[in-house]
Amino acid sequence: MSNLPIRTYGDPVLKQNTNQVLDIDSSIVSLCDEMIRVMYEAPGVGLAANQIGISKSIFVYDVGDGARVVINPKITETAGEWTYEEGCLSVPGLYWPIVRPKLVHLEGLDLKGNQLSIEGDELLGRVFQHELDHLNGILLIERLDPDQLSQAKKELRRIALGKV
Ligand code: ZN
Repeated sequence: MSNLPIRTYGDPVLKQNTNQVLDIDSSIVSLCDEMIRVMYEAPGVGLAANQIGISKSIFVYDVGDGARVVINPKITETAGEWTYEEGCLSVPGLYWPIVRPKLVHLEGLDLKGNQLSIEGDELLGRVFQHELDHLNGILLIERLDPDQLSQAKKELRRIALGKV
């Protein structure tokens, strides 16, 4: 497994719900290594497995304290509200101010199968929510308000035309 490209807006794998990981074997460990490599190369602060075409419930992140892996994540609590200029490696180059809960409680497993329980505030909380959305087949643009969405669609069309 090497050089898996980041899937972008329009790729059907990004719209699919990912599958729970039942067995954390060596293929999962290699997948996570690859995801971390791709995240740093991009560079980004988080990456979900389906962003490189693998429909499994795993994401990696690094908000400045080193790379971490979360398997079968779920958000169990949210609190507050926070606006952040949010972007996505699958919708490259575009950012929108998006309001989401400020603080989230995340549960999941690490690569050794240990239970994780993490409070994510501000940027960390935002990364958790963004990656969870990916794993549920939801892209950033589905979080835009109607005005932002119509602007975004124009931008995406312009970018798509520019590629031809
Ligand atoms: Zn993203």
